Amino acid sequence: MINHRGPAFAALIGECRDGLKWAFQTQNEVVVFPSSGTGGLEAAVQNLTSPGEKALFVTIGAFGDRFAKVGQAYGAEVLRLEYQWGHAADPAEIGQKLDHHPDIKVVFVTHNETSTGVTNDLGPIVAAVKERGRLIAVDGVSSVSSINVPTDELGVDVVISGSQKGWMLPPGCSFLSASPAALEFMATTTCPRFYFDVAKELDYELKGQTFTTPAVSILFGLRESLKILREEGLEGVFDRHARIARGVRAAVTALELELFADPLFFSNTVTAVRAPRGDEALNKKLIGTLRDKYQLELAGGQASLSGKIFRIGHLGDITEDDAIEIIDRLEQGLIEVGYIDGKVGAVDALTSAMRNQPAATPA
Ligand SMILES: *Cc1c(COP(=O)(O)O)cnc(C)c1O
Repeated sequence: MINHRGPAFAALIGECRDGLKWAFQTQNEVVVFPSSGTGGLEAAVQNLTSPGEKALFVTIGAFGDRFAKVGQAYGAEVLRLEYQWGHAADPAEIGQKLDHHPDIKVVFVTHNETSTGVTNDLGPIVAAVKERGRLIAVDGVSSVSSINVPTDELGVDVVISGSQKGWMLPPGCSFLSASPAALEFMATTTCPRFYFDVAKELDYELKGQTFTTPAVSILFGLRESLKILREEGLEGVFDRHARIARGVRAAVTALELELFADPLFFSNTVTAVRAPRGDEALNKKLIGTLRDKYQLELAGGQASLSGKIFRIGHLGDITEDDAIEIIDRLEQGLIEVGYIDGKVGAVDALTSAMRNQPAATPA
């Protein structure tokens, strides 16, 4: 570790903040907090809400629900716009909600819902909010640096991400960008804050320090992962995720499994798959077999989707060869648990879909 009040750290945090602005595609200020992604969500809520004042939380799954729960915990008057899990949010309905409630000042929304494998179409959502002169805070924990989030082009006021997702790092840091309008608004809100005070944190970071002891080791890693991302270029990174996700979906279909998400809004960082034959016991057996025999770690479903799906994560440090390994092992696992009788060509389906041009899908 190094002295976090010394010149070496000032250079490190400066380089990290510059790189984060590049990856967030923004000229807005970016701060780094020592926390998991949820800390970044708390920071957004604490700095953008006031107890008893209305705020709109758009939720399409477990992480949207979490955002709304943070809002409740801090005393905001939480209005929820909820969508069935597996589906995306409707920008027109967000607009209507704002028209009905002129006193909503901020909208909180998840970009990529990791619990369901759905990516909201950010462009029209942000437009609906900005047209009405409100602020928008986006949970981009599992999208920024893997799926395109053009912060300034769209005019997103606050974007949050977390080190252990597309940044190819261990957990330990959250990142938050804030527009000038958001920073101005934060000076007027009354929600209590201390550790996650954006204005205070920014004061320190502009001087090459952080308010509290930073997660120095994660920042060493971030400096490297930003170099890796810059070498590939953001376009290249987004294309790789899109290509691999397309391949994984083709392979899952070849394996006679059903994708969970609305096909118009498939995520490029996580694929949710319905339990084979809807059989929860078989789903559990498959996940266990893959973990114990094939060293493949798949996630189950969260909350109401517990037992009903499994999820394949494909973000960050993932290559086409990794995708081939994943699908090959998944196929072997499905044979082992008796879901398919033998190989069905899943790896071929994967590689040919990865080679084909992408179908036009929303950003
Ligand atoms: C991972 C994740 C979070 C934050 O989770 P932590 O466990 O606190 O890092 C928030 N939102 C989304 C969409 C996520 O994928």
